Amino acid sequence: PVSRPRKGPVRLPPDVSSEDFETAVKELQAAIGDENVEVNDKALVDGWYIEHPNTHDAFHIVDQEELVSSATVYPGSTEEVQATVRWANKFKIPLYPISIGRNLGYGGAAPRVPGGIVLDLGRRMHQIINIDADNASCVVEPGVTYFGLYEEIQNRKLPLWIDTPDIGGGSVLGNAIDRGVGYTPYGDHFGNRCGMELVLPNGELLRTGMGAMPGPNGSDNPTWQSFQHAFGPSIDGIFSQSNFGIVTKMGFHLMPETGHQSYCFTFPRDDDFEQIVDLIRPLAQKRILGNIPQLRHVIQEFNVTGKRKADFHNGSGPMTRDEIRTAASKMPLGDCSWAFYGTQYGPPESIASQLEVIKAEFTKIEGSRFFLPSDLPPEHYLHDRAKVCSGVPVLRELEWLNWVPNGAHLFFSPIAPTRGKDARTVHDVVVAAHKRHGFDLFPTLCVAGREIHYITNIIYDRSQPEMKARAVRLMREMIDECAAKGFGEYRTHLLFADQVASTYNWNNSALMRFNETIKDVLDPNGILAPGRNGIWPKRFRGKGWEL
Ligand code: ADP
Repeated sequence: PVSRPRKGPVRLPPDVSSEDFETAVKELQAAIGDENVEVNDKALVDGWYIEHPNTHDAFHIVDQEELVSSATVYPGSTEEVQATVRWANKFKIPLYPISIGRNLGYGGAAPRVPGGIVLDLGRRMHQIINIDADNASCVVEPGVTYFGLYEEIQNRKLPLWIDTPDIGGGSVLGNAIDRGVGYTPYGDHFGNRCGMELVLPNGELLRTGMGAMPGPNGSDNPTWQSFQHAFGPSIDGIFSQSNFGIVTKMGFHLMPETGHQSYCFTFPRDDDFEQIVDLIRPLAQKRILGNIPQLRHVIQEFNVTGKRKADFHNGSGPMTRDEIRTAASKMPLGDCSWAFYGTQYGPPESIASQLEVIKAEFTKIEGSRFFLPSDLPPEHYLHDRAKVCSGVPVLRELEWLNWVPNGAHLFFSPIAPTRGKDARTVHDVVVAAHKRHGFDLFPTLCVAGREIHYITNIIYDRSQPEMKARAVRLMREMIDECAAKGFGEYRTHLLFADQVASTYNWNNSALMRFNETIKDVLDPNGILAPGRNGIWPKRFRGKGWEL
């Protein structure tokens, strides 16, 4: 299943003949170099996280051929991005920009429109343009990964942290554009941006924030990474989770390094759930909790240690609660239901007093237990959590993929208010839907003071079309059932973007009509990432592309 011969020749972009495609490819090759335009006519190889494909979705939930590119283009500079965009307008070929393309679980590097061209920015545009130690900020190109930025800061011995997601191989810039999250106090990646440079769908270059004002003698504006806004409307937001521009540079604030202490609480009963959420809320609102903590069901203790489902369970159905309990009792945290992973920051005295306040709250739940990393064996996940929560990128969570053979995963990520009863409503929908479709349930809640990113990971076997179809049905039902109760997703896989976008339909879909208005003005030929986040340009809209 990982490498399959193609079902046909190259999947062409919509409404483009093979002659025109050949002409177009030659023209672009002449402009940016033969080797930088690669036609996708070879077998599709899923690879793995490190050697991920940039031709299709490595974690396919439909047939591989349904989300596949016609070619991949590797621009080496902003000018080459502009040249490629002008070329795409001439031939009306859709471009799908990626930075690294490890957006696995949300569509990977696949273009939403089959036959689109993947614009792989990261391969050649991966410079760290600046790290300003005094301002504690950086400017990066699309191909800079968390690992890359981390290593550079270590090499220069700067007292700065980065903020990494659970897995550190992605693009700093790409993850921020998709509004991903991390786990230091700077975990809101888009919120900690400062200044962007973009190529618009007509090829024009735009700088946002203070970068809109030229610096003296042609230099970058000296305030670009100091203040997020310019004069007038703040437009940065419309370039996140959209298809309005290609980001070629982006600035970020970096956290100065500080003391930190990660820890874990466990809670014995599944039904402690509401009380845990209600205890977290004031601690988070008062900023006593140092970061966005994770609340995980104990079943995840197995995933992060690379365990296989077959070690605990016979047959294809989900593990039973008793099986989870028996297996958990042999793990370091013991038999429990929920595990809370948090981190406190600052000097040791300050951390100690913060922990006293937090312990006083969580010990209100009978049977709760507190663990420091030193209480647990060196291979326990809490040690990896301590790294992530202090800005050190890791790959530990890839071990999830061992759960089933040919393992792949798909995220379901609704937002709930931080209130026990609302979290329970979402949780009940998710539990029932997983049961109906026979999937193990792996909820991780990233709990802030007012909202929860309720993230659950559906793990499936890519070689089983029946299981993939079931995962798709599970997603579709959860999206609809949550929306009926007022809960919507913060992000989703490419294939569910239309459905999720259609749930944000207040006042006759005023939001989508606004997005479409902007799209049609900026991108009249509809060349940039048609369909991304459910936004279709006029040329495609209402013509059967929406899923
Ligand atoms: P990762 O950072 O995890 O490797 P990607 O590079 O795939 O992820 O980025 C996530 C998504 O964000 C992409 O699928 C794409 O839609 C969008 N994106 C990424 N980089 C850019 C960019 N430079 N300009 C515009 N959109 C981008």
